[in-house]
Amino acid sequence: MAEVAADSRRRGLSLMRLFGIRVQVDPSWGVIFALVLWSLGAGYLPREQPGLPGAAYWAAALAGALGLFASILTHELAHALAARRIGLPVDSITLFLFGGVSNLEREPPSPRVELQMALAGPLTSFGLALGFWALGHALPAPGAGLSGVLVRYLAWINVALGVFNLLPGFPLDGGRVLRAVLWWRTGSLLHATRLAARAGRGFGYGIALLGALSLFGGALLGGTWLVLIGLFLAAAASSSYRSLMIERTLERIGVQEAMVRDPVSVPASASVRELVEDYILARGYRGFPVLDEGRVVGVISVADAREVPPEQRDRVSVARRMQPLGDAQRIAPEASLAEALQQMNRTGQERLLVMRADRLMGLLTLTGLSRLWELREMLDAEGTEPLGAEGAQQSQTGEPGRQSS
Ligand SMILES: [Zn+2]
Repeated sequence: MAEVAADSRRRGLSLMRLFGIRVQVDPSWGVIFALVLWSLGAGYLPREQPGLPGAAYWAAALAGALGLFASILTHELAHALAARRIGLPVDSITLFLFGGVSNLEREPPSPRVELQMALAGPLTSFGLALGFWALGHALPAPGAGLSGVLVRYLAWINVALGVFNLLPGFPLDGGRVLRAVLWWRTGSLLHATRLAARAGRGFGYGIALLGALSLFGGALLGGTWLVLIGLFLAAAASSSYRSLMIERTLERIGVQEAMVRDPVSVPASASVRELVEDYILARGYRGFPVLDEGRVVGVISVADAREVPPEQRDRVSVARRMQPLGDAQRIAPEASLAEALQQMNRTGQERLLVMRADRLMGLLTLTGLSRLWELREMLDAEGTEPLGAEGAQQSQTGEPGRQSS
Protein backbone atom coordinates (compact mmCIF):
# COMPACT_ATOMS: atom_id res chain seq x y z
CA MET A 1 0.00 0.00 0.00
CA ALA A 2 2.92 2.27 0.55
CA GLU A 3 3.29 3.70 -2.93
CA VAL A 4 0.40 6.11 -2.98
CA ALA A 5 0.88 6.92 0.64
CA ALA A 6 4.63 7.20 0.87
CA ASP A 7 5.00 9.16 -2.29
CA SER A 8 2.38 11.69 -1.57
CA ARG A 9 3.22 12.26 2.02
CA ARG A 10 6.96 12.51 2.03
CA ARG A 11 7.74 14.94 4.80
CA GLY A 12 10.90 16.28 6.36
CA LEU A 13 11.80 18.48 9.30
CA SER A 14 10.65 22.04 8.72
CA LEU A 15 13.50 24.52 8.97
CA MET A 16 12.19 27.90 7.88
CA ARG A 17 10.09 29.75 5.37
CA LEU A 18 11.71 31.63 2.50
CA PHE A 19 9.66 33.66 0.00
CA GLY A 20 6.59 31.91 1.37
CA ILE A 21 8.05 28.46 0.61
CA ARG A 22 8.51 25.98 3.43
CA VAL A 23 12.07 24.68 3.58
CA GLN A 24 12.43 21.22 5.08
CA VAL A 25 15.28 18.77 5.37
CA ASP A 26 15.20 15.03 5.02
CA PRO A 27 16.51 13.36 8.20
CA SER A 28 19.39 12.03 6.05
CA TRP A 29 20.72 15.57 6.01
CA GLY A 30 21.95 15.24 9.59
CA VAL A 31 24.28 12.44 8.48
CA ILE A 32 25.37 14.37 5.38
CA PHE A 33 26.11 17.47 7.41
CA ALA A 34 28.24 15.48 9.87
CA LEU A 35 30.08 13.73 7.01
CA VAL A 36 30.84 17.02 5.25
CA LEU A 37 31.94 18.61 8.51
CA TRP A 38 34.24 15.70 9.29
CA SER A 39 35.76 15.41 5.82
CA LEU A 40 36.46 19.16 5.74
CA GLY A 41 37.75 19.54 9.32
CA ALA A 42 39.80 16.34 9.50
CA GLY A 43 40.82 15.92 5.87
CA TYR A 44 40.53 18.62 3.26
CA LEU A 45 41.34 21.80 5.21
CA PRO A 46 44.41 20.53 7.15
CA ARG A 47 45.74 19.09 3.90
CA GLU A 48 45.32 22.34 1.96
CA GLN A 49 46.51 24.65 4.72
CA PRO A 50 48.69 22.75 7.22
CA GLY A 51 50.01 24.00 10.54
CA LEU A 52 47.00 25.69 12.12
CA PRO A 53 45.33 24.93 15.48
CA GLY A 54 42.54 22.34 15.39
CA ALA A 55 39.85 24.81 16.44
CA ALA A 56 40.54 26.93 13.35
CA TYR A 57 39.92 23.92 11.09
CA TRP A 58 36.67 23.00 12.81
CA ALA A 59 35.38 26.59 12.68
CA ALA A 60 36.21 26.76 8.99
CA ALA A 61 34.70 23.31 8.44
CA LEU A 62 31.46 24.48 10.02
CA ALA A 63 31.45 27.54 7.76
CA GLY A 64 32.11 25.27 4.77
CA ALA A 65 29.31 22.84 5.65
CA LEU A 66 26.89 25.74 6.15
CA GLY A 67 28.09 27.20 2.84
CA LEU A 68 27.38 23.89 1.09
CA PHE A 69 23.95 23.78 2.71
CA ALA A 70 23.24 27.37 1.59
CA SER A 71 24.44 26.56 -1.94
CA ILE A 72 22.07 23.60 -2.27
CA LEU A 73 19.26 25.67 -0.80
CA THR A 74 19.90 28.49 -3.29
CA HIS A 75 19.90 25.97 -6.16
CA GLU A 76 16.54 24.58 -5.02
CA LEU A 77 15.08 28.04 -4.41
CA ALA A 78 15.99 28.96 -7.99
CA HIS A 79 13.87 26.03 -9.24
CA ALA A 80 11.01 26.94 -6.94
CA LEU A 81 11.02 30.63 -7.81
CA ALA A 82 11.22 29.84 -11.53
CA ALA A 83 8.24 27.51 -11.12
CA ARG A 84 6.27 30.12 -9.27
CA ARG A 85 7.03 32.83 -11.82
CA ILE A 86 5.60 30.56 -14.48
CA GLY A 87 2.51 30.05 -12.34
CA LEU A 88 3.13 26.64 -10.77
CA PRO A 89 2.61 26.81 -7.02
CA VAL A 90 5.44 25.37 -4.93
CA ASP A 91 4.47 24.38 -1.44
CA SER A 92 7.83 23.33 -0.05
CA ILE A 93 11.41 22.38 -0.77
CA THR A 94 12.97 19.27 0.73
CA LEU A 95 16.75 19.01 0.93
CA PHE A 96 18.02 15.50 0.34
CA LEU A 97 21.24 13.57 0.14
CA PHE A 98 22.76 15.27 -2.88
CA GLY A 99 20.44 18.14 -3.55
CA GLY A 100 16.82 18.85 -3.15
CA VAL A 101 13.36 18.33 -4.40
CA SER A 102 10.85 21.05 -5.02
CA ASN A 103 7.45 19.72 -4.10
CA LEU A 104 5.33 20.88 -6.99
CA GLU A 105 1.63 20.46 -6.59
CA ARG A 106 1.40 19.28 -10.18
CA GLU A 107 3.54 18.49 -13.21
CA PRO A 108 4.68 21.35 -15.48
CA PRO A 109 2.10 22.10 -18.19
CA SER A 110 4.46 22.09 -21.19
CA PRO A 111 7.98 21.02 -22.26
CA ARG A 112 9.00 24.66 -22.45
CA VAL A 113 8.03 25.32 -18.83
CA GLU A 114 9.80 22.13 -17.75
CA LEU A 115 12.96 23.24 -19.53
CA GLN A 116 12.96 26.70 -17.93
CA MET A 117 12.42 25.27 -14.46
CA ALA A 118 15.03 22.56 -14.89
CA LEU A 119 17.76 24.93 -16.08
CA ALA A 120 17.19 27.54 -13.35
CA GLY A 121 18.96 25.37 -10.73
CA PRO A 122 22.23 24.50 -12.49
CA LEU A 123 22.54 28.02 -13.91
CA THR A 124 22.22 29.41 -10.39
CA SER A 125 24.88 26.99 -9.14
CA PHE A 126 27.26 28.09 -11.91
CA GLY A 127 26.49 31.72 -11.02
CA LEU A 128 27.32 31.01 -7.37
CA ALA A 129 30.56 29.29 -8.42
CA LEU A 130 31.52 32.36 -10.39
CA GLY A 131 30.70 34.55 -7.39
CA PHE A 132 32.88 32.48 -5.02
CA TRP A 133 35.65 32.35 -7.59
CA ALA A 134 35.58 36.16 -7.89
CA LEU A 135 35.52 36.47 -4.10
CA GLY A 136 38.59 34.22 -3.90
CA HIS A 137 40.41 36.57 -6.22
CA ALA A 138 39.32 39.63 -4.27
CA LEU A 139 40.87 38.29 -1.05
CA PRO A 140 44.42 39.50 -0.37
CA ALA A 141 46.49 36.69 -1.90
CA PRO A 142 49.07 35.68 0.75
CA GLY A 143 47.02 36.34 3.90
CA ALA A 144 43.86 34.65 2.72
CA GLY A 145 44.76 31.38 4.44
CA LEU A 146 41.86 29.22 5.45
CA SER A 147 39.20 31.60 4.14
CA GLY A 148 40.84 31.43 0.73
CA VAL A 149 40.74 27.61 0.82
CA LEU A 150 37.11 27.73 1.94
CA VAL A 151 36.01 30.10 -0.82
CA ARG A 152 37.75 28.00 -3.47
CA TYR A 153 36.09 24.89 -2.01
CA LEU A 154 32.66 26.52 -2.26
CA ALA A 155 33.37 27.61 -5.85
CA TRP A 156 34.19 24.00 -6.76
CA ILE A 157 31.31 22.53 -4.83
CA ASN A 158 28.90 24.71 -6.82
CA VAL A 159 30.48 23.69 -10.12
CA ALA A 160 30.11 20.08 -9.01
CA LEU A 161 26.48 20.62 -7.98
CA GLY A 162 25.67 22.18 -11.35
CA VAL A 163 27.45 19.49 -13.36
CA PHE A 164 26.08 16.58 -11.32
CA ASN A 165 22.53 17.84 -11.60
CA LEU A 166 22.92 18.17 -15.36
CA LEU A 167 23.42 14.39 -15.77
CA PRO A 168 20.66 13.41 -18.17
CA GLY A 169 18.79 11.06 -15.83
CA PHE A 170 15.38 11.86 -14.38
CA PRO A 171 14.68 13.20 -11.72
CA LEU A 172 17.96 15.16 -11.92
CA ASP A 173 17.74 18.51 -13.71
CA GLY A 174 19.51 17.13 -16.77
CA GLY A 175 16.95 14.33 -16.81
CA ARG A 176 14.21 16.92 -16.75
CA VAL A 177 15.83 18.64 -19.72
CA LEU A 178 15.91 15.26 -21.47
CA ARG A 179 12.28 14.65 -20.55
CA ALA A 180 11.28 18.09 -21.88
CA VAL A 181 12.97 17.35 -25.21
CA LEU A 182 11.40 13.86 -25.47
CA TRP A 183 8.03 15.26 -24.42
CA TRP A 184 8.29 17.93 -27.09
CA ARG A 185 9.27 15.37 -29.75
CA THR A 186 6.71 12.69 -28.88
CA GLY A 187 3.90 14.72 -27.34
CA SER A 188 3.57 12.23 -24.47
CA LEU A 189 4.62 13.20 -20.95
CA LEU A 190 4.23 9.65 -19.69
CA HIS A 191 6.36 8.16 -22.46
CA ALA A 192 9.01 10.87 -22.02
CA THR A 193 9.06 10.29 -18.27
CA ARG A 194 9.47 6.54 -18.74
CA LEU A 195 12.52 7.00 -20.98
CA ALA A 196 14.09 9.75 -18.86
CA ALA A 197 13.51 7.72 -15.69
CA ARG A 198 15.11 4.69 -17.32
CA ALA A 199 18.16 6.86 -18.00
CA GLY A 200 18.04 8.02 -14.38
CA ARG A 201 18.04 4.45 -13.14
CA GLY A 202 20.93 3.65 -15.46
CA PHE A 203 22.99 6.59 -14.20
CA GLY A 204 22.08 5.70 -10.61
CA TYR A 205 23.32 2.12 -10.88
CA GLY A 206 26.35 3.32 -12.86
CA ILE A 207 27.31 5.77 -10.11
CA ALA A 208 26.76 3.12 -7.42
CA LEU A 209 28.98 0.68 -9.32
CA LEU A 210 31.68 3.33 -9.66
CA GLY A 211 31.39 3.87 -5.90
CA ALA A 212 31.69 0.15 -5.20
CA LEU A 213 34.80 -0.05 -7.38
CA SER A 214 36.45 2.86 -5.60
CA LEU A 215 35.50 1.28 -2.25
CA PHE A 216 37.48 -1.77 -3.26
CA GLY A 217 40.25 0.58 -4.36
CA GLY A 218 40.42 1.88 -0.78
CA ALA A 219 38.54 5.20 -1.15
CA LEU A 220 36.26 4.61 1.80
CA LEU A 221 34.52 7.97 2.14
CA GLY A 222 34.32 8.85 -1.54
CA GLY A 223 33.16 5.35 -2.43
CA THR A 224 30.43 5.31 0.19
CA TRP A 225 29.20 8.69 -1.04
CA LEU A 226 28.92 7.46 -4.61
CA VAL A 227 27.14 4.24 -3.66
CA LEU A 228 24.60 6.16 -1.57
CA ILE A 229 24.01 8.81 -4.24
CA GLY A 230 23.72 6.21 -6.99
CA LEU A 231 21.21 4.01 -5.17
CA PHE A 232 19.22 7.03 -4.13
CA LEU A 233 19.06 8.31 -7.70
CA ALA A 234 17.99 4.91 -9.04
CA ALA A 235 15.21 4.66 -6.45
CA ALA A 236 14.07 8.23 -7.10
CA ALA A 237 13.94 7.57 -10.84
CA SER A 238 11.73 4.50 -10.40
CA SER A 239 9.40 6.11 -7.93
CA SER A 240 8.97 9.31 -9.93
CA TYR A 241 7.77 7.38 -12.95
CA ARG A 242 5.50 5.31 -10.78
CA SER A 243 3.94 8.28 -9.07
CA LEU A 244 3.28 9.99 -12.39
CA MET A 245 1.63 6.83 -13.68
CA ILE A 246 -0.49 6.61 -10.56
CA GLU A 247 -1.49 10.24 -10.88
CA ARG A 248 -2.44 9.82 -14.54
CA THR A 249 -4.62 6.84 -13.66
CA LEU A 250 -6.21 8.57 -10.68
CA GLU A 251 -7.11 11.55 -12.87
CA ARG A 252 -9.52 9.33 -14.72
CA ILE A 253 -11.38 8.03 -11.68
CA GLY A 254 -13.92 10.16 -9.82
CA VAL A 255 -14.11 10.43 -6.04
CA GLN A 256 -17.67 9.10 -6.25
CA GLU A 257 -16.46 5.80 -7.64
CA ALA A 258 -14.02 5.10 -4.83
CA MET A 259 -15.73 6.52 -1.75
CA VAL A 260 -17.49 4.52 0.92
CA ARG A 261 -21.19 5.33 0.53
CA ASP A 262 -23.34 6.09 3.56
CA PRO A 263 -20.45 5.85 6.02
CA VAL A 264 -21.15 5.14 9.68
CA SER A 265 -21.09 8.40 11.59
CA VAL A 266 -20.63 9.32 15.25
CA PRO A 267 -22.82 11.78 17.20
CA ALA A 268 -20.88 14.86 18.37
CA SER A 269 -22.19 14.33 21.90
CA ALA A 270 -20.69 10.83 22.24
CA SER A 271 -17.73 10.44 24.57
CA VAL A 272 -14.31 9.41 23.27
CA ARG A 273 -14.76 6.14 25.19
CA GLU A 274 -17.98 5.42 23.29
CA LEU A 275 -16.17 6.30 20.08
CA VAL A 276 -13.41 3.81 20.85
CA GLU A 277 -15.60 0.96 22.11
CA ASP A 278 -18.79 1.26 20.08
CA TYR A 279 -17.36 2.53 16.83
CA ILE A 280 -13.63 2.04 16.28
CA LEU A 281 -13.29 -1.39 17.93
CA ALA A 282 -16.83 -2.60 17.22
CA ARG A 283 -16.84 -1.73 13.53
CA GLY A 284 -13.18 -1.75 12.65
CA TYR A 285 -13.08 1.61 10.88
CA ARG A 286 -10.35 4.11 11.62
CA GLY A 287 -12.28 7.33 11.13
CA PHE A 288 -15.84 8.65 11.19
CA PRO A 289 -17.80 11.71 10.13
CA VAL A 290 -19.21 13.53 13.17
CA LEU A 291 -22.89 14.53 13.11
CA ASP A 292 -24.70 17.06 15.24
CA GLU A 293 -28.49 17.05 14.85
CA GLY A 294 -28.16 15.47 11.44
CA ARG A 295 -25.58 17.97 10.20
CA VAL A 296 -21.96 17.13 9.48
CA VAL A 297 -19.74 19.11 11.83
CA GLY A 298 -16.36 17.38 11.52
CA VAL A 299 -14.38 14.18 11.29
CA ILE A 300 -12.60 12.14 13.96
CA SER A 301 -10.07 9.32 13.74
CA VAL A 302 -8.22 6.78 15.84
CA ALA A 303 -5.30 9.21 16.02
CA ASP A 304 -7.53 11.93 17.54
CA ALA A 305 -8.93 9.46 20.07
CA ARG A 306 -5.53 8.12 21.02
CA GLU A 307 -4.42 11.56 22.19
CA VAL A 308 -6.94 11.38 25.02
CA PRO A 309 -5.57 9.32 27.98
CA PRO A 310 -7.81 6.28 28.70
CA GLU A 311 -8.87 7.56 32.13
CA GLN A 312 -10.21 10.79 30.61
CA ARG A 313 -12.09 9.24 27.71
CA ASP A 314 -15.39 9.14 29.61
CA ARG A 315 -15.42 12.85 30.19
CA VAL A 316 -14.17 14.13 26.84
CA SER A 317 -16.70 14.42 24.02
CA VAL A 318 -16.12 13.64 20.37
CA ALA A 319 -17.01 17.26 19.56
CA ARG A 320 -14.01 18.43 21.55
CA ARG A 321 -11.46 16.18 19.86
CA MET A 322 -12.76 16.11 16.28
CA GLN A 323 -11.36 18.11 13.41
CA PRO A 324 -14.08 20.65 12.66
CA LEU A 325 -15.45 20.66 9.14
CA GLY A 326 -13.48 23.00 6.86
CA ASP A 327 -12.28 23.13 3.26
CA ALA A 328 -9.41 20.77 4.11
CA GLN A 329 -11.80 18.04 5.28
CA ARG A 330 -14.30 18.09 2.41
CA ILE A 331 -14.25 17.37 -1.30
CA ALA A 332 -16.89 17.41 -4.02
CA PRO A 333 -18.10 14.07 -5.45
CA GLU A 334 -17.19 15.24 -8.97
CA ALA A 335 -13.49 15.74 -8.12
CA SER A 336 -10.96 13.20 -9.41
CA LEU A 337 -8.97 10.89 -7.18
CA ALA A 338 -5.84 12.76 -8.28
CA GLU A 339 -7.31 15.97 -6.87
CA ALA A 340 -8.31 14.14 -3.70
CA LEU A 341 -4.78 12.82 -3.28
CA GLN A 342 -3.31 16.27 -3.87
CA GLN A 343 -5.63 17.66 -1.22
CA MET A 344 -4.66 14.94 1.28
CA ASN A 345 -1.03 15.60 0.52
CA ARG A 346 -1.37 19.35 0.97
CA THR A 347 -3.39 19.27 4.16
CA GLY A 348 -2.15 16.08 5.81
CA GLN A 349 -5.72 14.70 6.01
CA GLU A 350 -6.03 10.95 5.64
CA ARG A 351 -9.78 10.97 5.08
CA LEU A 352 -12.04 13.35 3.23
CA LEU A 353 -15.76 13.88 3.62
CA VAL A 354 -17.37 13.72 0.20
CA MET A 355 -20.06 16.38 0.31
CA ARG A 356 -22.43 18.12 -2.04
CA ALA A 357 -23.46 21.39 -0.38
CA ASP A 358 -24.41 20.32 3.17
CA ARG A 359 -25.13 16.72 2.31
CA LEU A 360 -22.69 13.95 3.21
CA MET A 361 -22.40 11.51 0.31
CA GLY A 362 -19.48 9.37 1.38
CA LEU A 363 -16.06 9.01 2.91
CA LEU A 364 -12.79 8.73 1.02
CA THR A 365 -9.76 7.37 2.88
CA LEU A 366 -6.10 7.19 2.00
CA THR A 367 -6.06 3.55 3.08
CA GLY A 368 -8.96 2.83 0.76
CA LEU A 369 -7.18 4.61 -2.09
CA SER A 370 -4.01 2.59 -1.56
CA ARG A 371 -6.01 -0.59 -1.38
CA LEU A 372 -7.82 0.27 -4.58
CA TRP A 373 -4.47 0.83 -6.23
CA GLU A 374 -3.12 -2.46 -4.90
CA LEU A 375 -6.12 -4.36 -6.29
CA ARG A 376 -5.79 -2.66 -9.67
CA GLU A 377 -2.16 -3.69 -9.86
CA MET A 378 -2.97 -7.28 -8.95
CA LEU A 379 -5.64 -7.41 -11.62
CA ASP A 380 -3.47 -5.65 -14.20
CA ALA A 381 -0.71 -8.15 -13.56
CA GLU A 382 -3.12 -10.95 -14.39
CA GLY A 383 -3.89 -9.26 -17.69
CA THR A 384 -7.49 -8.40 -16.87
CA GLU A 385 -9.17 -5.10 -17.63
CA PRO A 386 -8.44 -2.31 -15.17
CA LEU A 387 -10.81 -2.15 -12.26
CA GLY A 388 -14.02 -0.25 -12.87
CA ALA A 389 -16.34 1.63 -10.59
CA GLU A 390 -17.94 -1.47 -9.16
CA GLY A 391 -14.70 -3.08 -8.06
CA ALA A 392 -13.53 0.18 -6.58
CA GLN A 393 -16.62 0.32 -4.44
CA GLN A 394 -16.06 -3.18 -3.14
CA SER A 395 -12.47 -2.52 -2.24
CA GLN A 396 -13.67 0.26 0.05
CA THR A 397 -16.21 -1.80 1.87
CA GLY A 398 -13.42 -4.23 2.53
CA GLU A 399 -11.65 -1.57 4.56
CA PRO A 400 -12.31 -3.00 8.04
CA GLY A 401 -9.89 -5.75 7.14
CA ARG A 402 -7.13 -3.15 7.14
CA GLN A 403 -7.37 -2.86 10.90
CA SER A 404 -5.12 -5.83 11.37
CA SER A 405 -2.39 -4.59 9.04
ZN1 LIG B 1 18.26 21.15 -9.52
